[in-house]
Amino acid sequence: MTNISRLGSLSILIAALITFGFSLGGCLNGSAQQGEDRNYLKSETLNLSDERLTRWLSRLVAIPSVNPDQAGALESIAGEGLLTSELARFFRDFGGEVYLDEVIPGRSNIYGIWRGQSQCWIAVDIHLDTVGIPSTMSNPFSGKIENGRVYGRGSVDTKATMAVVLTLLEAMHESGVRPRPNLLIAGTIDEESQLMGAPAFSQWVSRQGLKIDQLAVAEPTLCGPVYGHKGVARVGLLVKGRSAHASLPEHGENAITAAAVIVNEMERENKRLQSVEGFLGPPKLTVTLLRGGTGHNIVPNSCEVTIDRRIVEGEKPADVAEQIYRLAQRISPLPVVLINAGGVNAFLQRPDSPWIRQLAEWSGREPAVVPYTSNACAYGNLSRETVLIGPGSIEQAHTDSEWVAISELRKLADIFALWWGVKLQGYSLSPGCR
Ligand SMILES: [Zn+2]
Repeated sequence: MTNISRLGSLSILIAALITFGFSLGGCLNGSAQQGEDRNYLKSETLNLSDERLTRWLSRLVAIPSVNPDQAGALESIAGEGLLTSELARFFRDFGGEVYLDEVIPGRSNIYGIWRGQSQCWIAVDIHLDTVGIPSTMSNPFSGKIENGRVYGRGSVDTKATMAVVLTLLEAMHESGVRPRPNLLIAGTIDEESQLMGAPAFSQWVSRQGLKIDQLAVAEPTLCGPVYGHKGVARVGLLVKGRSAHASLPEHGENAITAAAVIVNEMERENKRLQSVEGFLGPPKLTVTLLRGGTGHNIVPNSCEVTIDRRIVEGEKPADVAEQIYRLAQRISPLPVVLINAGGVNAFLQRPDSPWIRQLAEWSGREPAVVPYTSNACAYGNLSRETVLIGPGSIEQAHTDSEWVAISELRKLADIFALWWGVKLQGYSLSPGCR
């Protein structure tokens, strides 16, 4: 889960992910026929035990991968590097083709490919970084297993999905089972701060000439398919005034007072927005920072106003920033300039596609939208279909006692085994990817 308040001033770089109207052509739907394929029969013997799942997760939690922007005093162990090199080893051990993609110096995405038995490509994107460790959190890397849970930073957000993936890959490797579709596993950096890993993954896929059919973005969704969330526009305005001695305010122009007019107008704008209807609910606008003044006895000559605007389907961060800027200019008694405009688009996948319906059936949870943002913002048309899915609840993410239930790991392992076509249970094969 990305804490959007930490999103920096990303240039406006993200292609639209409004995927309504896309075509579902191509791969076939269908049911597995008994005895049709030895791969499935063999899969019955895969060892996907709870013990194996928890062992993998404990092991991953014990490898710190705190986002450097949030590492604070943990600087010496900051970053995803340790985890990336361990994953490279695991992927190779389990027969994967491994690729490292340096996104910024010293920080690389990792990709593993397992060739399947069809033309289809499926992918799982799992962010490698975790949020920081507050002083109130004890034993963040213990990976303790207790009362049917695994504890520690990253346990639910989002090493749980990586543990499930490694369990499957290990079991498949030892049983000589290949996935039905071609499988691409991506470990991406920096989801919890600037979302730098996701666009790099997207670009890497296009450089390889790959066409992804189904992309699962790992986030805690209680294993239900999530088909949409808002994006964000971050807008910075600077109100320009003129300094004067505070005993003679009429000689100056007070930038803070002018900013207050803008702040109040933004409150009204948020109320107006609440009547906008759509799949993702109404947009939200919040004034989040106000900075101005240089001394208690000086008329302030400047004031910065920062606005966080949650955007919905059909909106673009740049357009929204421009609208807010124009509104501020109209209402402000002093000159205003736009000093910062960035953000990411909303993510919205059609909720009734065959794959999403199938995931809903397997998980027993209806397709839903969520309030937080994720790497999915950056994936535009990377995949024919995209969903968020992962074990555990977002309520446990980023907390001092972060944990995930082992039953949730179990559930995702079963869902992924079906999706990857490595388990026979008299089920329908994943639609669109046979
Ligand atoms: Zn996350």
